[in-house]
Amino acid sequence: MSTQYDAVVVGAGFGGMGAAIQLTRLGFDNLLILERESDLGGTWHVNHYPGLAVDIPSATYSYSFEPNPNWSRLFAPGQELKRYASHVADKYGLRKYMRFNTVVTGAVWDTDHWVVSLRDGMPVTAKYLLTATGFLSQPKMPNIAGVDTFEGKVIHTAAWDDGYDLAGKRVAVIGTGATAVQLIPELSKVAAELTVYQRTPIWVSPKLDFPVPPALRRAFATVPLTQRLARFTGSAILELLMVSGVLHYKQLRAANRVGELWCRAHLRRQVRDPELRRKLTPDYSFGCKRPTFSNTYYRAFTRPHVTLETTSIAKIDPTGIVTTDGQRRDIDVLVLATGFDLWDANFPAFEIIGKEGRDLGKWWRDNRFQAYEGVTIPKFPNFISLNSPYSYSGLSYFTTIETQMRHIDRLFTAMHKRGATDFEVTQSANDAFLTRMTEKLGDSVFVLGHCATANSYYFNPHGEATLLRPSSTVSALREAGSFPIADYTLTR
Ligand code: NAP
Repeated sequence: MSTQYDAVVVGAGFGGMGAAIQLTRLGFDNLLILERESDLGGTWHVNHYPGLAVDIPSATYSYSFEPNPNWSRLFAPGQELKRYASHVADKYGLRKYMRFNTVVTGAVWDTDHWVVSLRDGMPVTAKYLLTATGFLSQPKMPNIAGVDTFEGKVIHTAAWDDGYDLAGKRVAVIGTGATAVQLIPELSKVAAELTVYQRTPIWVSPKLDFPVPPALRRAFATVPLTQRLARFTGSAILELLMVSGVLHYKQLRAANRVGELWCRAHLRRQVRDPELRRKLTPDYSFGCKRPTFSNTYYRAFTRPHVTLETTSIAKIDPTGIVTTDGQRRDIDVLVLATGFDLWDANFPAFEIIGKEGRDLGKWWRDNRFQAYEGVTIPKFPNFISLNSPYSYSGLSYFTTIETQMRHIDRLFTAMHKRGATDFEVTQSANDAFLTRMTEKLGDSVFVLGHCATANSYYFNPHGEATLLRPSSTVSALREAGSFPIADYTLTR
């Protein structure tokens, strides 16, 4: 087979678009971006449940090279993110590369290029393969007995039915993660009865959110430095939170404690009933699982028609939910805020076979989850895996994206200078990186805190918290622009 494309990028969310922008900057124009959904935007296309918004300040949760002066609030609602994604695709000329409704089923390295199989249609070939399939992209259905037998309306938050009217309905929500925290206050406004089934409580911080005044928007548009300042401030606060409260738990346990006390005070202010407060208080350390922000979540449970149920679910039957204490509750609508399959359905999102027949998913599971600088893996030449172990750097996903763009830039520029066409990370560089990350993780709340009861998706099936890179975003960005080129074998 001849090589059809310079590069195939899988995923047209912000990660895939960032990678594609970087490739065009490097001079590639024979690209193909494959997307299983009907449009671009990734998570911001798929998710449109009531209450959806960012929980990272918008000036920070966006590309640094494409600031948007028009965010309506400090934490923009979901539709604005979707519009921003469309704007970026248009401005950077990415749409012409995109093929929607195209499901990739596998990829195999074949001598000097990648062969990418599609569910419908002929395989495509490319010199380089970049996967940006996201972490939170495969909705998880709960493994609860009888869930399939429920005869009322079932809605997963990642497939929200905008046309369905919840007014006056008896609604049950399963799950109390970041999605539920945004959704529950909205549902409480319309449902006749709302019962929330909680397995693990979540740490919730107040959300300092407000509409961006028109004068400030004008300043952002006319004096870009002002928005850069806002971005810098947002990034610095997030960095401080992450580095002091989570990554340097060993040295700065007090900072983690401040995070916890901050959330406890918020709960105390919003909920007077001590029993309800007790139920809503996590028993694991702050930061073991992703904390969230809301001014309305706790308060929703104080409304008379809203019930927090903490007894485990025994089964679901055609008309309701039965808990292990034998109580049953009739409902009209079952909302599954049960999140996403990270480790079972991703890593990788489809079968990827490298040199010598190495199967990436099997190799990660038989060995340890690992990737050099969170992007490349030995025996997988010309492959950039953007959703790898240790790739997620900091709290805003855009920090990760731009770090990876810089890595791509350095790697491809070095190849270009040396007249090389192929790259493969060396085993020794990969091993040294893994050792370093493992050591750093040893200082974090994930190893030293009380995380056993958190049920956190940060932990892989081996029990290691390998989703987040345990270093500051500043050092990750610096390394992306300065890693030794000798860490790669570059060939023609
Ligand atoms: P999640 O954090 O994984 O939460 C899923 C919830 O469902 C958990 O409370 C989980 O309980 C519960 N659950 C799952 N299976 C269950 C079962 N069989 N029985 C009972 N409960 C079950 O998913 P999410 O809330 O969708 O959030 C995922 C991530 O999306 C967030 O962490 C965040 O990164 C991102 N997000 C971001 C924003 C934003 O504003 N930027 C908004 C929403 C989501 P356990 O904890 O006990 O497993």
